[in-house]
Amino acid sequence: MYPAPFDYVAPTSLEEAVEELAQRGDDARVLAGGQSLIPMMKLRLAVPAALVDINRVPGLDSIQEANGHLAIGALVRNNDIVDSDIVERTNHTVAAAAPWISDPIVRNRGTLCGSVAHCDPEGDWNSVMLAVGAEVVARSATGERVIPIADFIADFFTNTLQPGEMVTEVRIPKYTGRAGGTYIKLERKVGDYATAAVATHLQLEDDGRIAQAGIAMTSVAPINRKATEAEQMLVGQTPSAELFGEAAQAAANAADPETNVRGPAEYKRDLIRVYTRRGLAKALEIAQGS
Ligand SMILES: Cc1cc2nc3c(=O)[nH]c(=O)nc-3n(C[C@H](O)[C@H](O)[C@H](O)COP(=O)(O)OP(=O)(O)OC[C@H]3O[C@@H](n4cnc5c(N)ncnc54)[C@H](O)[C@@H]3O)c2cc1C
Repeated sequence: MYPAPFDYVAPTSLEEAVEELAQRGDDARVLAGGQSLIPMMKLRLAVPAALVDINRVPGLDSIQEANGHLAIGALVRNNDIVDSDIVERTNHTVAAAAPWISDPIVRNRGTLCGSVAHCDPEGDWNSVMLAVGAEVVARSATGERVIPIADFIADFFTNTLQPGEMVTEVRIPKYTGRAGGTYIKLERKVGDYATAAVATHLQLEDDGRIAQAGIAMTSVAPINRKATEAEQMLVGQTPSAELFGEAAQAAANAADPETNVRGPAEYKRDLIRVYTRRGLAKALEIAQGS
């Protein structure tokens, strides 16, 4: 099917892009990699009156280290993250997840910020962002605000951007001290969305106890879901296989999967339990080696 008719503008500066968004309000959508928006327009699941194509806006395509975080710009492609030495050195959860995003063709165009903005509960990035405690930078014609990821994800395919705002970057905390994390995903074939997946992150105190824990789940709820109770069970504790087993069970209890073509609900719930336990063990191994 062809998309419904729409206006198309391709601004060449950030100021011009946010001005276009301000003038068009709710009728406009940002076009980044187009890997989700264009298929949705062809299926008429999205019918925007105008597309603001940001691909010619300079300055949005870099990964930078700044003030204790990694700043990933709105035009950084998923394959840029796969290839990034900075990401490899500074955040294991992000580095582990990047090669799991679809296939190389989709990764060449699709952006991390576009995926974060899209809020598809089957998308991988928002689980990673929840586990590591990322922030989203939103820009409009009148200014900029920084939104914690948990406040940015509003609902199924819905974020908390206001009309006229766009995402310019996502800020990901850099690992400091003894920290580690990973992303474990089951997919039916290369390029498929997750049957279920779990992002984990651990930060250790000098005495080996857990200072911070992040766990979030993909494809098992109407939004990417943080396993808050499981995280709280870990903080302040000395890591052990038994503790990880209990936290993994709490994460599985927090999942709310549906039976669909990717498998029965109970199978997915058990995947969450197994992947959380494995993910925490891997995160600990990395943290203890760092
Ligand atoms: C065959 C196929 C398989 C896929 N498999 C996976 C997978 O396994 N895992 C996974 O996580 N994803 C998968 N995807 C999705 C892919 O990762 C997309 O790239 C991603 O969801 C959206 O990024 P994009 O840059 O293409 O965004 P677009 O398609 O351009 O935009 C998506 C939405 O986000 C909005 N948006 C984009 N950028 C911004 C911005 N800077 N500010 C405000 N709003 C913005 C758009 O307006 C639109 O509503 C798959 C896609 C395809 C086609």
